[in-house]
Amino acid sequence: MLSKKKLEIGAEVEALCNKCKGATIHVIVAIKSEEMVRVMCKACSSLHRFHPPDGKLMKKMVKLKKAKKAKLTPQARETRKWTKLLQQADPEKAVVYSMSKAYVENDLIQHDKFGLGIVVKILDQRKISVVFEEGLKNMVQNMN
Ligand SMILES: [Zn+2]
Repeated sequence: MLSKKKLEIGAEVEALCNKCKGATIHVIVAIKSEEMVRVMCKACSSLHRFHPPDGKLMKKMVKLKKAKKAKLTPQARETRKWTKLLQQADPEKAVVYSMSKAYVENDLIQHDKFGLGIVVKILDQRKISVVFEEGLKNMVQNMN
């Protein structure tokens, strides 16, 4: 059921908006039956069918999120593991990143552009793989 409020054109109702991805105030613009109500979002002006604020749309969004999770590549999963470690890391222990330094796995670094990062892998003498909040990056080391 929609609500106990009387449905009439021009009335304001709370409804889910696909564009705003949440419940916003909508104005009823057309009514065919209780199930077929067209509303206009006051936040983004999009016209769509009425979706109850706690209704199907949210479930659909949750499903989509789950589907995305399942499709993670092994590399993305690996990155996520490191991102988690990063969140638990103590920023005070991080050392400022410098190309001329040498690093070992698990070193916590502070980069002036990417922020806090953890050395995931030593790729070679000159290259390291570091995970930052925005993802995995290859950085240089031992440069003079
Ligand atoms: Zn909207």
